[in-house]
Amino acid sequence: MIVSFSFFSCNSKKKIYSQNESFENFKKLFIATIWERNPDWALALGNHEYDERLEIPSKENRDKKIGIYKSLTDSLKKYDWKKITPENSIDARIMMNYLESFNWNCYELKSFEWNPAEYNVGEGFDLILGNSKLVLEKRLSVINNRLKYVPEFYIVAKSNIQKPTIEHTELAILQNKGALEIFEKNIPDSIGISKLTVEEKTELNNRLSQAIVSIKEYVSYLEQVKKGFESDTTTSRSFRLGKALYEKKFQFEMQSCFSVDQIFQKAKDHKTEIQNEMIGYTKQLWSKYFGAVEMPEGLASVKMMIDTLSKQHCLPELYVETIKKQIPELEVFIKQKNLLTLDSNKPLEVRETPKYLRGGGAGASINAPGPYDKNAKTYYNVTPLDGYSPDDAESYLREYNNWILQILNIHEALPGHYAQLVYSNKVDDIIKSVFQNNAMIEGWAVYGERMMLEEGYGNNTPEMWLMYYKWHLRSTINTILDYSVQCLNMSKDDALKLMIEEGFQTKAEAEGKWRRATLTQTQLCCYFTGYTEIYALREDQKKVLGSSFSLKSFHEKFLSYGSVPVKYIWEIMKAEDKN
Ligand code: ZN
Ligand code: ZN
Repeated sequence: MIVSFSFFSCNSKKKIYSQNESFENFKKLFIATIWERNPDWALALGNHEYDERLEIPSKENRDKKIGIYKSLTDSLKKYDWKKITPENSIDARIMMNYLESFNWNCYELKSFEWNPAEYNVGEGFDLILGNSKLVLEKRLSVINNRLKYVPEFYIVAKSNIQKPTIEHTELAILQNKGALEIFEKNIPDSIGISKLTVEEKTELNNRLSQAIVSIKEYVSYLEQVKKGFESDTTTSRSFRLGKALYEKKFQFEMQSCFSVDQIFQKAKDHKTEIQNEMIGYTKQLWSKYFGAVEMPEGLASVKMMIDTLSKQHCLPELYVETIKKQIPELEVFIKQKNLLTLDSNKPLEVRETPKYLRGGGAGASINAPGPYDKNAKTYYNVTPLDGYSPDDAESYLREYNNWILQILNIHEALPGHYAQLVYSNKVDDIIKSVFQNNAMIEGWAVYGERMMLEEGYGNNTPEMWLMYYKWHLRSTINTILDYSVQCLNMSKDDALKLMIEEGFQTKAEAEGKWRRATLTQTQLCCYFTGYTEIYALREDQKKVLGSSFSLKSFHEKFLSYGSVPVKYIWEIMKAEDKN
C-alpha cells in the first residue's frame, strides 16, 4: 500500500499543467487592471501607484469598468481549469467570483444608489498623509493633485443617490462629518510644518477649502434627504435586503459549500444544543457557587451562573499585563499537545495600542500588515483601560472575565488570527492575499477556540466550558440575527430579546449588534459559516484517514493554502485523499 501510495503521489507531482505558465501571466495582468481601475482599493491595500487619482463614481466610469471586466472574464473562461495547478484553479474561481459579484452589484444590488456612506473621501487622504515611506512634502504634493477630484466626486455622489436607507444616510452624515477633521486640521497642520513654498501652500490651501465646502454640501444635502424621510416615508428604502439579494450576497461573500438556508438551520439547531450544554454545566456548578439556593428552571439558572462567574476578572490596571502573560502559556500548550508548528522567527508581540489607533472601541486585536507590506511587524494591540470610568471598566472586565479573556486570546492570537496570518503570508500569491475569504479567516479563529478546549485547554473545568459556550453562542446568534433581520423582517424588539435573553448579552452589546445588523449584510454570518465548514472538513478527514489522521498535519495542511474559501481547501484535500 505504502509503495503504491508514494508512486501515485510522485506521479501526480509530475502532472503537467500545460496552461499554468500562461495563467500566471494572466494573473499579473488581472491584478494590474484591478488596481488601475480601483485606485482607492489599491491605496487601502498599500499599493501607492495611483494615489494621485480619486475615482469618480460616475455611471460612465462604471460602464467602462463593466466593459474591461467583461474582457477579463472572457480571457479567464478560455483557460481549462484542469490544465492549471490546483492552487491556480482556486485563484481562477476567486477571480471569477469577484468579476461576477461586481456585475451583480452594478445591475442588482446597486448599493451605490441606496448607501450614501459609500461616498467618503476621508480615508484615502488619511492613508496618504500617514504613508511614512514618503517625505512629507511629497505626500502633500500627492494630496494636492488628488484634491482636484473632490468637488466632482461629491457632485456625482449626490446624483447617484436614489431612495437611500435611513440607516445608511445617518451613517454617511456621521462619517463625512468625521472626515472633515482630516481636511480642517490634520492636513493643514502638516502643511504648517512642511518646507513647501508659499505658492505651493497657497494652492494646497485653496484646494483644501474647496474640498471642505464639497463635503459640507454633501452633508447638508443628506440632512435634507433625512428631513424628507419624516414627511414622506416612501422616499426611503428599507435597510433589509430581502431573501433574493441576501442569498446571492451570501454566495459571493462566503463562497461556502453550504447554502444560506443550510447555515441558518444549522445555526438554529446549534443554538439549542449550546443552551442545553450550558444548562448541564450550570447544574454541575450550582452547589459550588449557590449552595442550598434553589436553582431556577432553564436559561434563568445559566444567566445567574454567568453573572456570578463574571465577577472573577483581572484588575483594570493589570489588563494588558494579564494578556501578555497568557500568550506564552498558549504557546506552550500548543507545543505540548502537538497542535500546530508555530514559526519561532515570527514571535507575536503584544503591545499597548498606539494612541493614533485607539478610539475604535476597546479591546484587543491583531494589527495585520497588508499584501504589499508583508514583512512589516504584526502586533497584538491591546488597549489599556485607563480611559474608562470605573463603572465602564467593571462592565468591560465582566464581559472579558478570567475565562473569556483566555478565549479572546485564543481567537485573536494563538492558534487563531495571528497563527493563521503567519501561515497565510507564506503563500506568495497576490490573488489569494487580495481576495481573502473572511469566512475562512474568522472560521479558523472560532474553530481554534473549540479545538483548544477539546484538547483540554482550561483543564476541562465546567466554568471554562460554560464561558466558552457563552462566547460561542454569540457567533451562532449573529448568524440567526443577520438572516432573520435581513430576510425575515425580525423586529428590533425581537432581536434584542434573542441576544439578551437567549444569548446572555448585555443591553449595550445587543444594541451595538442591532446597529451592525442594519448596516451590514452577511458579514455577521462569516464566523459561524467558516467554523461550521472547517469543523465538518476536519470530521470528514478523520473519517477518511482513520488511524493515520493527525490533528497537527490537518491544521498545517489546512492553513498552507492561504486565506481561501474552505470549500476549495476541502476539494484539494479530497483529491489528495484519493491518491
Ligand atoms: Zn468586578
Ligand atoms: Zn476574529
